[in-house]
Amino acid sequence: MTELVNLPASPIVGKNLIGGEWQDPASGRRIDVVSPYTAAAIGTVPMSNATDVDRAVAAATKAAAGWRKVPLRERTQVLFRFRDLVLKNLEELSHLAAAECGKTVAEARAGVMKGVEIIEFAASLQNMDDGASLEVSRGVTCELRREPLGVVAGITPFNFPAMVPMWMYPTAITLGNAFILKPSEKVPLTADLSGKLMLEAGFPPGVFSIVHGGREVVEAICDHPGIAAVGFVGSSPIAKSVYARSTATGKRALCLGSAKNHFIVVPDADPDVTVDGVVRSFTGCAGQRCMAASLMIAVGNCDSLIEKIVAHAKTFELGVDMGAIINGEAHARIVKDIETAVGDGAKLVLDGRGAKAPEGYETGHWMNPSILDSASPTMECTTKELFGPVLTIVHVDNIDEAIALQSDSPYGNAYSVFTTRGATAHYVIEHAEAAMVGVNIGVPVPREPFSFGGSKASKFGSHDMTGWGGVDFWSMQKKITTKWAIYPDATWMS
Ligand code: NAD
Repeated sequence: MTELVNLPASPIVGKNLIGGEWQDPASGRRIDVVSPYTAAAIGTVPMSNATDVDRAVAAATKAAAGWRKVPLRERTQVLFRFRDLVLKNLEELSHLAAAECGKTVAEARAGVMKGVEIIEFAASLQNMDDGASLEVSRGVTCELRREPLGVVAGITPFNFPAMVPMWMYPTAITLGNAFILKPSEKVPLTADLSGKLMLEAGFPPGVFSIVHGGREVVEAICDHPGIAAVGFVGSSPIAKSVYARSTATGKRALCLGSAKNHFIVVPDADPDVTVDGVVRSFTGCAGQRCMAASLMIAVGNCDSLIEKIVAHAKTFELGVDMGAIINGEAHARIVKDIETAVGDGAKLVLDGRGAKAPEGYETGHWMNPSILDSASPTMECTTKELFGPVLTIVHVDNIDEAIALQSDSPYGNAYSVFTTRGATAHYVIEHAEAAMVGVNIGVPVPREPFSFGGSKASKFGSHDMTGWGGVDFWSMQKKITTKWAIYPDATWMS
């Protein structure tokens, strides 16, 4: 049997983390946490309700009152310890994240390391976030101070069990807030391990809490008057409803949603860079990531590039080059999407259905890369987020048609242009519509301090989730205007 991932030796019992204590849910209800590698349970997760959210908010409110008074420099000292603990436990975190969400261990490790970048950015705020003070009129000074919002919450999806929560809580907590995490019920165990490390690092009880569950917990968070802000990452319909429900109760909300990301490829593109960029992007995390570019718009004759893309994707070994699909339902949905595309007239030039599972993991949810060529702009495979290892290719005659097709998408997360001509890249950047853009890069994730966040139906709310966008979202900007004396030459503005 190939050793792909260390599945937990015995089932892990997930718990809520409230006031620094690990607790069972008020309802006593639990569901299984199932590994996509085997389709077998590796633990259980509490299905909490509004009572658990109430308890978490009460403990967090108490903690937030003290934590906001701790100077920023002292807050970051605890975060430095957390960073060290994450690195010390990198292998355990990565194997657990891989075990519960199905990605390869290397992908899970990369996700944790991206989380570490956010921790480092948040820790650097002690030196970088120097506020601002300016004499705005004779004898009158304006000052900007960042203050915590109080108790804030984050609701996260299944596909990045360590990283997406880390997009939020290191920054939110460093800024003096108490943070309540509601992880995806499909991948709750990595969150609990992160919670153990947060306690070990020395964050006071209640500064970081976890309430597990599903819709009931999410709705209780949206409605709770004691929560000041909600960060959400997941599918667009839920993002939209969480945004509407949270803001209806006066909360600040930033909700990132689904995506359909495009590659615009022109014939002058560098073959090696393009083939590598395209294949890595649509197969990474088995296509289950919001930055997967799953629609290639081939401008003019790109036939030899397409042949190379197909040949490269054909060599994939499951478990090594690509992980598993989250569950049987998602697997069946992707198979159906491929059938629909073929029925609509797309050419299935690479068929990933009926994949050979890695030895020892035959009961899991596996699928090889698939490629649908010659799709039309209106087919479902062109317009819908498939969230699996499937690349759709549409052929157009010129760059303006490619830009029009990209801009028609309701989503605005990301696109990439592959070309060796700077002028072509500039033209596309100027005219196509998405908030994150790659030039010869298949997964254009902005690194810190640049912030992560899409546009259109990929984002509900303002600000961005990471970088300076996150700093603004998780803090209140207090403006103080001061005058100590009346100057003889004062104007009416003074
Ligand atoms: P999802 O929307 O099903 O779940 C996200 C969160 O919402 C989970 O915590 C879940 O418990 C909760 N939830 C689910 N149904 C709910 C309901 N009816 N009411 C209230 N809460 C509910 O998303 P997922 O399947 O876990 O993740 C995949 C999706 O997330 C994809 O669409 C992907 O594009 C998107 N995603 C977006 C980004 C981004 O940055 N834009 C990043 C990662 C994932």
